[in-house]
Amino acid sequence: MTDPERAAALETVAAEVRSCTSCRLHATRTKAVPGEGDPETEVVFVGEGPGFNEDREGRPFVGRAGELLERHLASIGWKRDDVFITNVVKCRPPDNRDPEPDEIAACYPYLRRQLEILDPALLVTLGRHSMGRFLQDARISRDHGTLRAVDPATGARDALVFPMFHPAAALRSPDVARQSEADIRAVPAALLEARGRRASPANAAPATRDLGPVMAAAAVATPTPDPAPQHAPEEPPGRVPELAPEAVAVGVAPAASDRGASPPTETGEPPITSDPVDQLTLF
Ligand code: URA
Ligand code: SF4
Repeated sequence: MTDPERAAALETVAAEVRSCTSCRLHATRTKAVPGEGDPETEVVFVGEGPGFNEDREGRPFVGRAGELLERHLASIGWKRDDVFITNVVKCRPPDNRDPEPDEIAACYPYLRRQLEILDPALLVTLGRHSMGRFLQDARISRDHGTLRAVDPATGARDALVFPMFHPAAALRSPDVARQSEADIRAVPAALLEARGRRASPANAAPATRDLGPVMAAAAVATPTPDPAPQHAPEEPPGRVPELAPEAVAVGVAPAASDRGASPPTETGEPPITSDPVDQLTLF
């Protein structure tokens, strides 16, 4: 699929979502929220469903949870426009209740088509309803921050899934917030892992595909201290190591280590890195 074809195909799905009446959520929505982002991205974030602000604007993650998601992305040098952001249900559940299984099932064909079109390398699920759609036997408290292969029946042909807590949960709990900050810092390494899986040695172009040194650096990077002892490090496929920022400066000529990363702030907020060149570039 060419870039314009992909953008047009995503817009076709979005237009169908905006007029969809396939489940009861259509009756109480203001605007459906199809999702948005870079049609060429390798990374798709999947939340649960629109909230109050999303329902009014017709755009995903524009409220407080969205602000936190954007801060998380900024901490690894990414912007929301670099990725694609959507939800398992495209219309707001009344009073922000959890989506019902039949609503998730009714809405899934849209997400499946979005994933077929985008063909992401990495799928980041936000919250347990999103995770549950891709990993049947997973538990968010145990499995957040780990990588598994995605069943191609989900629409994502060849992707790894990286579950994270929902940003709204991080807003409610400092402990979840700390774990989410650690998880997001492992996302660049997760993308490298996913890319490596997809890259065939035959078509590997050195500038962007030379993953050897990067993955070697990942292997020696210090893993985040694990606040939950039930995370057995040897549990397959294991937690994703956090990369030092200089280790993920893929294809960047200047010595990234000269610049270093901003330290975490005293408030425990994720560091906002102003120099995205230090970070893994999304292609
Ligand atoms: N929470 C979600 O799960 N999705 C949104 O789009 C906003 C908040
Ligand atoms: Fe249609 Fe999904 Fe909205 Fe239900 S939640 S009405 S299936 S778009």
